[in-house]
Amino acid sequence: MAPLLPSYDMIVGLILEGETVKAQEHIKSLREAALALDMESAALKAQVKSLEQKVELRQRLHMEGGVYWLRLGGSRNGPFCPQCYESGGKMVRLDSIPSKDLPGAFHCLTWKCKRCKASYEAI
Ligand SMILES: [Zn+2]
Repeated sequence: MAPLLPSYDMIVGLILEGETVKAQEHIKSLREAALALDMESAALKAQVKSLEQKVELRQRLHMEGGVYWLRLGGSRNGPFCPQCYESGGKMVRLDSIPSKDLPGAFHCLTWKCKRCKASYEAI
């Protein structure tokens, strides 16, 4: 809970009564409160910016083939690890394990995460 701040009228009253030292103390406490609010405001602005960036990232991500892809302009970037993103918001690009040709011209491709070691079969 924020401390009770002295009012303008209280400070003016002290000055008119010649209690300038008390008035100065109250002005000092107002200044300290203003600085604390300024710091809190800066922290909240940084938090809002961070959340806005997370929302924008989330709007650009889409799941396709069991992995995340990021839309940037008209192109698709990635893929990114679903497990790392969903467990901590980390965008970890997946490595592709060289495809191996299977009978019937099917290609099997596996995406592997260096960070969490998860692997995803490309569909
Ligand atoms: Zn991962």
